[in-house]
Amino acid sequence: MNLRRFAGLMLAALMALSWIPKRAMAAELLQETGEKVVVVIDPGHGGSNLGTTANGHEEKSMTLVTALAMYDELLLYDGIEVYLTRTQDKDMTLKERAQFAESVEADFLFSIHYNASEQHDAYGAEVWVPMHAPYSTYGYQFGYEALTNFRELGLLVRGIKTRPGEKGLDYYGILRESVALEVPAVIIEHCHVDEAHDAGFCDSEEKLQLLGRRDAAAVARYFGLKSSALNVDYSDREAADTGDEAWLNALLNARTAPELCQISYVDADYEEGLLTLSVSGSDSDSGLLYYSYSIDGGETFSGRESWPGGDGLTGAYQKEFTLMLNIPPGLRPVVVVRAYNGFDIGTESNPYESPMIFPFPPEPEDSRPEQAEDPEPEAAPEKFEDLDMLIAIVMFTIAIVLSMMLALQIVEAKRRKKRRQRYLQNIEREIAMEKEAADRRRYRYSQNRESPNGRQYSRQTEDWGRSRYYQSRNEDG
Ligand SMILES: [Zn+2]
Repeated sequence: MNLRRFAGLMLAALMALSWIPKRAMAAELLQETGEKVVVVIDPGHGGSNLGTTANGHEEKSMTLVTALAMYDELLLYDGIEVYLTRTQDKDMTLKERAQFAESVEADFLFSIHYNASEQHDAYGAEVWVPMHAPYSTYGYQFGYEALTNFRELGLLVRGIKTRPGEKGLDYYGILRESVALEVPAVIIEHCHVDEAHDAGFCDSEEKLQLLGRRDAAAVARYFGLKSSALNVDYSDREAADTGDEAWLNALLNARTAPELCQISYVDADYEEGLLTLSVSGSDSDSGLLYYSYSIDGGETFSGRESWPGGDGLTGAYQKEFTLMLNIPPGLRPVVVVRAYNGFDIGTESNPYESPMIFPFPPEPEDSRPEQAEDPEPEAAPEKFEDLDMLIAIVMFTIAIVLSMMLALQIVEAKRRKKRRQRYLQNIEREIAMEKEAADRRRYRYSQNRESPNGRQYSRQTEDWGRSRYYQSRNEDG
């Protein structure tokens, strides 16, 4: 009878609820550098090349703000030489940027970008790396630092990826041109400017600067730098383990759709209008990152939600989770779920067609003995055989374990949300403090000058940026 089937289903669900273990940080840095590390920061786009303009943003200006903050922060470390490909809003080809990096004998070029997706539904941070070794492995080890940082901020981690173009070369020009000149390079896509999950991370100059400082910290960790000014020392940090070649290749080069997305009925509460389904999915190479659902048979879909446990950095994701849907009254839902991987490729599930319209009309207790789909223990027939009794006990235990695991997940999700809120509050506080300090500085400045002139002041800071840029250029020659 269906009691036994239910017990089997619960057992299967329990077994599927296992996490793929995360990779340990336990390797040496693969890249070798001289005594002094030479870093080039490349603010993406510029001049007539605006970058993304979604949501009233202008990527070329955002990248410059982040890059300048990254530059300032990196100067606080010992044993590093830092350059910018541009400090002005000007056109510059990708080849020119790579050539500049080569001319200063850069150990690494970091290209700074902000993202937007065609459907405005993707969110999170990602790092694009060159396709071929050793640049792919350097990129992976740096990407691990950068994305670990972003994950701590509460951003979804979309992964470290490659994108092939023509003739077996990299699709992204800045990677292709840099690698051609033997300069290791990555593209850092900080977050999506056109999606609500990410909007709070890039909606002010101060937040763009904070991301730049995070980038600097990732660079410092990657190269194992130390700074007495910041009181940090990363010299004995461990680099990310690139694991076995096949694993890394699969992670960096996955471009196939998720292999599976499947849904099955768990429970329906017609009075509350709640439909509970079990969703399972798999993507053996890049992992699962998002899902969306439709209750009208696939005509319209919800926005994307994070796939539980989904982490583009490790490829980990939960094999199966419980999805609770609010069903409006009067609807007979036909549910379809889409599972997406880190390459934004989606796979659609089987449809689940509700046998009844929501809400289920209240009815006398005795009129529905056998048609009850919901396999609650009390709905089972009275006379148990011994085996059925045993199964009931096992099933009950499993149900308790499952609900405890679900509760744990909810707690973890809450903690993540709280962490993000705390981060945003910290930003607000830091911004306020910085503003105050800036006011004070300006006041002091105007006092010194006796004739305050805001315009002159801002001109001066611009020159200051430029002169530092040339200064570090000269140091090298
Ligand atoms: Zn860009």
